[in-house]
Amino acid sequence: MPCYYIWTIGCQMNKADSERIGSYLERVGFQATRRAEEAEIVVLNSCVVRQSAEDRVINKLGALKSLKRGPQNPILALTGCMVDSRVDGLRNRFSQVDLFFRPQAVGELGQFLGSRGLAAPPKPDSLLPLHPSPSTFVPIIEGCDKFCSYCIVPYRRGRERSRSVDEILCEVRWLVERGVKEVTLLGQNVDSYGHDLPTRPDLADLLAELNRVDSLARIRFLTSHPKDMGERLIEAMAQLEKVCEYLSLPFQAGDDDILLAMRRGYSAKQYRELVERIRDAIPGVALSTDVIVGFPGESEEQFERTLDMICELRFDTVHAACYSPRPGTIATRKLRDDVPLEEKRRRREKIEVLQERIASEINRKLLGQTVEILVEGRKKGKWLGRTRTNKLVFFGDEGDHLGKLVRVEIEKTSPWAFQGSLAG
Ligand code: SAM
Ligand code: SF4
Repeated sequence: MPCYYIWTIGCQMNKADSERIGSYLERVGFQATRRAEEAEIVVLNSCVVRQSAEDRVINKLGALKSLKRGPQNPILALTGCMVDSRVDGLRNRFSQVDLFFRPQAVGELGQFLGSRGLAAPPKPDSLLPLHPSPSTFVPIIEGCDKFCSYCIVPYRRGRERSRSVDEILCEVRWLVERGVKEVTLLGQNVDSYGHDLPTRPDLADLLAELNRVDSLARIRFLTSHPKDMGERLIEAMAQLEKVCEYLSLPFQAGDDDILLAMRRGYSAKQYRELVERIRDAIPGVALSTDVIVGFPGESEEQFERTLDMICELRFDTVHAACYSPRPGTIATRKLRDDVPLEEKRRRREKIEVLQERIASEINRKLLGQTVEILVEGRKKGKWLGRTRTNKLVFFGDEGDHLGKLVRVEIEKTSPWAFQGSLAG
């Protein structure tokens, strides 16, 4: 049987897209391999949100050149955010690539394989995950309309396009029939879901529909934009029993002038008030956030406002990134990247050290407690799963627990994960 190999970097959206591309390839007769050398078709799913990610894609493309020249000579396809609607530039730079396709156009991969007599084009349902994990991603809105000044996503993923409530419901029911217990609804800006649909449903409406799906145990969604996180959604989270107490809500910067230059559309005070409302409505909610350090013009004092916000709001997780100028974005066109890389790295490390302390304090409180987790798989001889608040828990046991909700007593904590044993 011919083999395919997919290499993925970037966000959950890319992981979900890769899973779907793999499912299509399996349905038309290919088999997965972990080694590019064994594959007839190699797909790279790229990320260009930061230069460091783009560099990794370029290195991978370089490394695959020799494979293309060798006897195996696989078909090499590039997708993800590196591919926009104009591929001529890419074609000139990466002549080893046979096909460039945008992630939302897997049909082009099918047509290409069809033109070589290798496969039939994908039918709509051939992209559904073939071996879904008990916890599965479901993209519900593509693209982004926000145009934050630093971000390349709207240029590469295009404008927001929501899938209909019916289509998502059908897909989730189909997944549940195959053992899925938890879905994570995905969008770059998931809480703006629905505004482009004829009847204008919102994320709260969609959550209410999904909450009624029998045998589905949990629902999550990410990533939320603070500006779109309205009262209806907070209320839905608080009231719908399947919606988990977990929110990914990036604030990006703690200083108002930087937030303005980033074009985020809220102030630090508004973000603080939003968090207060969320915590009042949803007791025990876990919060994750993203921040960017070294945005053009960011002074030490302005950076410290980001640190203050982290200290004060005590997030469960913080992803800190060094600002990276991206071609075509407003920040790159209008602002000078004037914070030296060393200084950006120092600021990022300061956040990481602070957050490690905060997360270890938050997590230590779970020591000795019993938590419910959904078992997603095994790693290094242990079962692993997540709490409703998205805490990663490992436990050892000989039984088969995959896809089950089990109770685990926490015996060891760290800033990143927990160890425990099955509760009696
Ligand atoms: N839509 C989400 C939001 O509103 O923040 C996040 C999606 S974005 C693709 C993922 C993360 O990448 C952002 O939260 C931001 O911290 C980071 N990011 C995006 N552009 C960046 C840039 N030019 N430099 C550094 N980090 C960046
Ligand atoms: Fe990028 Fe801003 Fe859209 Fe998030 S909301 S994807 S950071 S433009």
